Amino acid sequence: MTDTANARAATLAHLRKPKLAKGDPIPLPLVMASVFHAPGDATGYNQYGRFSNPTWSELEHMLAHLEDAPCVAFPSGMAAISAVFFGLLKAGDRILVAADGYPTTRGIGERYLKGFGVTMDVRPTASFLDGGFDGYKLAFVETPSNPGLDICDIAAVANTAHQAGALLVVDNTTMTPFGQRPLELGADIVVAADTKAPNGHSDVLFGHVASRNPEIVTAVQDWRKTTGSIPSPFDAWMVHRGLETLELRFERMCANAEFIAPRLREHPAISAVRFPGLADDPSHNLARAQMERFGFLISLVLDSEEKAEDFINGCALIEAATSFGGVHTSAERRTRRGDVVPPGFVRLAVGCEPAEELWAAIKASLDRL
Ligand SMILES: *Cc1c(COP(=O)(O)O)cnc(C)c1O
Repeated sequence: MTDTANARAATLAHLRKPKLAKGDPIPLPLVMASVFHAPGDATGYNQYGRFSNPTWSELEHMLAHLEDAPCVAFPSGMAAISAVFFGLLKAGDRILVAADGYPTTRGIGERYLKGFGVTMDVRPTASFLDGGFDGYKLAFVETPSNPGLDICDIAAVANTAHQAGALLVVDNTTMTPFGQRPLELGADIVVAADTKAPNGHSDVLFGHVASRNPEIVTAVQDWRKTTGSIPSPFDAWMVHRGLETLELRFERMCANAEFIAPRLREHPAISAVRFPGLADDPSHNLARAQMERFGFLISLVLDSEEKAEDFINGCALIEAATSFGGVHTSAERRTRRGDVVPPGFVRLAVGCEPAEELWAAIKASLDRL
């Protein structure tokens, strides 16, 4: 990690220190309240649970420390993405979304934005720059794309988008603020599902929007306050707790993936492996240039659907599950989600288990096929 990332990680656990009075709890108190004592003037303090809550504020402070930008918390990753679309777009706008990213993001465009007069086009992540961004209000990428793990050049896309007058949104869920810094690379907005590695324990859904543009932050906050797309204080408290160990977990997960990916590639049962950390992966050079780490997602192809299922279900240290970013390693055969991939395509989400033991279990399951 870079010095800045280490400094960010080191101070994370001490963020509350300047605010503590004698006798205050060191951990974050959970404030469950819909109403607050609110006499007189109605500005500048907590009044009603749809407007603000001290536990969210503390979590947003921690997220802002990680993103180095103001953050707005949401009850899920999709709620955060919806807030960006519905809070910023209006009838007549065109948007461009990666064709191979999280499918539900495109679902919002197809099922809802269209009806409100917003047109969505799609383009593959690997060639996202081709064709430019003239006529677009907003471009939305997810890099590395999930589950294909293609990459686009965030700085180049941001530059070209800005020249065309378009905003760039990056879904940074797979990388977290420790793995990739889209705002530093020129993106206007980061969205993320904290459901994944940031919470990290597979027990809460959560999301956030980060931006250094105050108008965008205000628009997204207004959307939340008006529509009631608010997170529960308890979930915010859980994510706050998860974030305290994000750096540790993310480091282990990325190191594990770097240990396992080259070994997977040597295994005879596997016909293809994609991982940006492999020196000959099509994403590698760009990944080295723009990512802090290579992430913890690996995609691999087995001969058939049956073999993919056998591999996943027969491995003692893999949970058969959708989603990723938990402490456990998990995997999913992606044709069951409708991704356009070969039948034996598996997304492996590497967890926090010790590397040697994890590889031994994965190898044992592959050897049986
Ligand atoms: C999971 C995920 C989302 C959606 O997050 P939810 O918390 O499930 O709403 C969005 N983008 C990416 C890349 C994801 O992996």
